[in-house]
Amino acid sequence: MKAEPGELETGYIDGVELTTGDSIDIPALVLNGVEDGPTALLFSTQHGKELQGTEVVHEIMHRELSPERVRGAVIAIPVANPLAFMHATYRSWIDNRDVGYVNVDNPEGNTTERLANAIWSEAWSQADLVLNYHCNDHPDSLYFQIIEPTDETEADLKRAAQAFGVTTIRRDDRVDQGPSPVGSDTVPTLSNKGAAEGIPELMVEFIDGRYLDETSLRVGVDGTLNVLKEFDVLGGDPTEGPQEGITVVPCKYTGGSGVNRAHGMLRNDHGGILYPRQSTGEFVEAGEVVADVVDLHGELVEHVEMPVDGYLWAYAGAQQFATSGAMQTIESGGKVVYAFTHEPDPN
Ligand SMILES: [Zn+2]
Repeated sequence: MKAEPGELETGYIDGVELTTGDSIDIPALVLNGVEDGPTALLFSTQHGKELQGTEVVHEIMHRELSPERVRGAVIAIPVANPLAFMHATYRSWIDNRDVGYVNVDNPEGNTTERLANAIWSEAWSQADLVLNYHCNDHPDSLYFQIIEPTDETEADLKRAAQAFGVTTIRRDDRVDQGPSPVGSDTVPTLSNKGAAEGIPELMVEFIDGRYLDETSLRVGVDGTLNVLKEFDVLGGDPTEGPQEGITVVPCKYTGGSGVNRAHGMLRNDHGGILYPRQSTGEFVEAGEVVADVVDLHGELVEHVEMPVDGYLWAYAGAQQFATSGAMQTIESGGKVVYAFTHEPDPN
């Protein structure tokens, strides 16, 4: 799809067909500014039950931006995986694949690869900057952003992170979560291929994705407008410093020094009900209890301890329905909580 200069077009990127022959296409909006400039992609709901970014996209595209105010273009995809969204599942219900983790270079591949190829060709590859909106499940989760810089994207990602203004967690190699989008694996995913082509991607995480909330909307809209200003897609200067009214763990990318670095997922041995015992964004010493597991008789069966000095960003839970966090329960080796560390600057 295309928009002429000065126009906002809504439409669909051609996707796939179900067994019934019904088309499952990807909704998209293209706002082409009167003046030339960079192209930003606002990308939400790669995971089908993560709704907050959809509302951020609606607000930005219909109420905050207009073709007269935009230099360049803004492409927006409010629901990137309609197969997952239609069943409220994390991944595609048809093949249990994640549109963000499959090969984008395979237009004749499996169902989810075809969706990824369509997104890559029609949107991601056209962008100079990508904002990729996700959500955690637990209402106590931090608002945060993950960056995974390459030499080429580091400077732009630092500017984007400072402008968005939430806790920034750097990941150089994903721990315990499958292949890294930008790391050592060579699968040309949306993130991998984008990074290889020098397209900076800021991955933003809101809280509980299943119900829209005002704080996520405000954080998403304010952060996104700031990033668009920082990259001159919008006129004006971004607001300085971290966003107000939310917990921020400072680092050199957001309001401080040092680096927050992803540590990975803490896991458990015993199954039952999961009881979080710490707050996200608060310092937790190594050895402190972060969660308890209580079995179905009501007996405490496990303390899960913090392995390092650091912080938590989100409690998760059992992995039923092809996702974590659907319920406050847990199986052995489940997803208890995500942790990160803060490394001070050397000297
Ligand atoms: Zn997600």
